Amino acid sequence: MTLIPAYIALGSNLRDPAAQVRAGFEALAMLPDTRLAAVSSLYLTAPVGHLDQPDFVNAVALIETALSPRVLLDELLAIERQFGRVRDVPNGPRTLDLDILLYGDTVHDDEALTLPHPRMHERAFVLVPLAEIAPDTMIPGRGRAGALAPDTDASGITKLDAP
Ligand code: ADP
Ligand code: MG
Repeated sequence: MTLIPAYIALGSNLRDPAAQVRAGFEALAMLPDTRLAAVSSLYLTAPVGHLDQPDFVNAVALIETALSPRVLLDELLAIERQFGRVRDVPNGPRTLDLDILLYGDTVHDDEALTLPHPRMHERAFVLVPLAEIAPDTMIPGRGRAGALAPDTDASGITKLDAP
């Protein structure tokens, strides 16, 4: 079984966000044919885009998985539903958002899935936790996480206790 390293972004700003993110780590560990290899600290982050909503807790996990990108995405969307996520306001409040940042060095784009995640290279709330666990990770077409993170505005980001 070939295992591919994949980085997953977790975010929550409803119903005890830190607990949602920690439970999200556990749900990732339970995925079929997948192992949870590393998790970042939790970060408290100011909302981006839709500003009139509670602060977020964000983190990044490294999994090693035999699932295809499309099956992995469907599993993550199923976890989001299990956590009670309702999609109403774009960029609005959510109990748990799970995004695939990177799937190995795969570059892919269709209506359901874009890899690498199209906005990851400009988001401090993604790059700061990613650089914590994997500074040398290459974002295809963009550069290394640890080199990109300092170029983003991390002023709204506070590290919480280690998970
Ligand atoms: P966002 O994460 O941008 O706030 P959503 O979580 O509502 O938005 O995601 C909307 C759709 O984005 C998902 O249903 C999924 O099909 C699509 N999508 C495209 N690329 C990715 C990716 N790399 N990771 C997760 N979802 C993705
Ligand atoms: Mg998402």
